[in-house]
Amino acid sequence: MSDLPFKRFLVTGGAGFIGTSFCHMLLQQPATQRLVVLDALTYAGNRANLADCLEDPRTWFVHEDIRNTEAVIRLLQQEDIDCIVHFAAESHVDRSIAEPMLFMASNALGTQSLLEAARTAWQDTPSVGPRRFHHISTDEVFGSLDPETRPVTEEAPYRPRSPYSASKAAADHLVMAYHHTFGLPITLSYAANNYGPFQYPEKLIPFFLINALHGHPLPIYGDGLQRRDWVHVHDHCRGILAVLTLGQAGHSYNLPGMGEQTNLAIAKQITSILDRRMAAEATLRKRYPACPAATGASCAALLTHITDRPGHDRRYALDGSLAATELGFQPTIALEAGLEQTIDWYLQHATWWQDILKRHGLARQPWLAATAP
Ligand code: NAD
Repeated sequence: MSDLPFKRFLVTGGAGFIGTSFCHMLLQQPATQRLVVLDALTYAGNRANLADCLEDPRTWFVHEDIRNTEAVIRLLQQEDIDCIVHFAAESHVDRSIAEPMLFMASNALGTQSLLEAARTAWQDTPSVGPRRFHHISTDEVFGSLDPETRPVTEEAPYRPRSPYSASKAAADHLVMAYHHTFGLPITLSYAANNYGPFQYPEKLIPFFLINALHGHPLPIYGDGLQRRDWVHVHDHCRGILAVLTLGQAGHSYNLPGMGEQTNLAIAKQITSILDRRMAAEATLRKRYPACPAATGASCAALLTHITDRPGHDRRYALDGSLAATELGFQPTIALEAGLEQTIDWYLQHATWWQDILKRHGLARQPWLAATAP
């Protein structure tokens, strides 16, 4: 791939799951001269995720909220930022049902505040090179697809159905409005369900893995046949780099994964990988004695169907043809291999998630009530 046309980056939400991988990847790009990470460190942000990045003198971590427009304007001007990559958001659908107001405030108004900062800072300081505001969106803004429907293109109508997807849709519309009205050089990408290292343990894959290790139930919403397209976070971040490098300002790009899978099938894959790992490694059996596989049973016995989530979307699927033809982007990590690697990462980085469990007491959160031991 050609070199990135930008040199000085502001990454919002860089201490979260996807932002962490993206910051690591960005520092490997020869073009990167400066990386400013701006993150409010909500429950989902973890500065320690960026420990390696912060050893690099090109990186500066700023603990700040994207809604502080004045602070962001100063930062953009002082640091001569030419590219903003915007991940910061409240990202968990279950929480958006418990606390919908927070999602509009952070995701929609937060994005508008950042757009306003970029517009002000960039119009006041002309630049010789190109600039870009890249916004990270989600397949969820297109709503729930029928089983036979073709994967959606970037032109599909918006049909958000949860407070989370509605707040992301509102943010997307603002991004486009700032492009059309003020000429802000934006790009936007829609990603499938991400998985991989550093994902906060409330999300399906780490949540099921950690519950299974402790012999806690694995709660399946409804029939578990909700279908999602799964993209490995490293593929997603490569896709974002491809958009920054070859994408056209004002355009949107789908970044799909390598195939759809039901939540129930993912849960079963996790239990079978864990059964194999535990059978092969005595140290794991000793470390997690409450895991059914520690005594030769199967973790599949922990699967427990619970009442479905209100408004639960049945299926998301993205058509990746535009990114393939225009950007030469294809995901490369097959779900099966990616899942094995991800489970290995969590087993090898137990202190990372144990620290989070100690700090946040996940089992006491209301949306996990059904799983409390
Ligand atoms: P995450 O919840 O792991 O991380 C979000 C980060 O944003 C955290 O570090 C948090 O501290 C920070 N943040 C939240 N509100 C902020 C604010 N007001 N100001 C500054 N920082 C703030 O989320 P993630 O899974 O890494 O998702 C990143 C982005 O990608 C989000 O915009 C999300 O909507 C989008 N996305 C995620 C997925 C997925 O499967 N995880 C899929 C498609 C799109």
